[in-house]
Amino acid sequence: MQDTASTVAVLATGGTIAGTAASATDNIGYSAAQLGVQALLDAVPALAGQPLVTEQVAQLDSKDMSHEVWAALAQRVAHHLAQPDIAGVVITHGTDTLEETAYLLQRLLAPAKPVVLTAAMRPATSLLRDGPQNLLDAVALARESGARGVMAVLAGTVHSALDVRKLHSYRLDAFGSGDAGPLAYVEEGRVRRLRDWPAGEPLGLDRIARGEWPWVEIVTSHAGARPEAVRALVAAGVRGLVVAGTGNGTLHHALQDALLAAQAAGVSVLRCTRCLAGPVLTTPAERLPSAGTLTPAQARIELMLRLMGGA
Ligand code: ASP
Repeated sequence: MQDTASTVAVLATGGTIAGTAASATDNIGYSAAQLGVQALLDAVPALAGQPLVTEQVAQLDSKDMSHEVWAALAQRVAHHLAQPDIAGVVITHGTDTLEETAYLLQRLLAPAKPVVLTAAMRPATSLLRDGPQNLLDAVALARESGARGVMAVLAGTVHSALDVRKLHSYRLDAFGSGDAGPLAYVEEGRVRRLRDWPAGEPLGLDRIARGEWPWVEIVTSHAGARPEAVRALVAAGVRGLVVAGTGNGTLHHALQDALLAAQAAGVSVLRCTRCLAGPVLTTPAERLPSAGTLTPAQARIELMLRLMGGA
């Protein structure tokens, strides 16, 4: 069915791709999430006449992403994926939390069709707006025969939801995939794949059905780290703590002691690295579990999903 389906569902959530500024030379003083999904499509003449269905799922700056919007988006993505005439889903999003949304959707849905997030580093009014080309590439990827899983495409580069991360605050080519490297490139509408599509067992939407997202925070180890912040979070009722350690997940002794005490008190802890790439390699003697290759932002989602699953 997937190979004959050609309709792409475009779900819009806001972001800079839908942002506007008063001047075409203003790339930072803009308001995100101003244009609706039809305006985004209208800016891409090559998409005119193509079979698309559209939905405005949210309209926000993704720095303000909420668990409630995530739940609504996951449900709408699942709905569209279940339609036989839908080849794949495109999600327009802000760049700031794109990697979190992508990871969440892959863990929940691990879809057998492509779900492609895209975004822009420049608002729709910019001289150098990157949104229209990114959207065109995303639709091409969403229609790619045999493609599956949640991905992101920006600046012609496709990243797996399991690896994608924002690396640069300003450059148009702002995303990377850490050690894994890009999944594919989209070149003149054609997909050149380098490695396997994202895979895994879906947790399913039941995992988030109760709408109760456990409180999980990220703390960072650094010179002069103090234990008080961890103690305050535990006293306030935090359910999980992700620690972004130095290097191979190493922790300042004061922070480590506070985290061990938190763990002993029933708070779930996961240890990551604040390095931009690489895993946290561990030994059997290590008392705070490693999050492997997950970034701190991914590990926070992973820990919430585990807690929602009764871990
Ligand atoms: N703050 C914006 C957002 O994430 C940035 C962007 O989209 O590039 O929505």
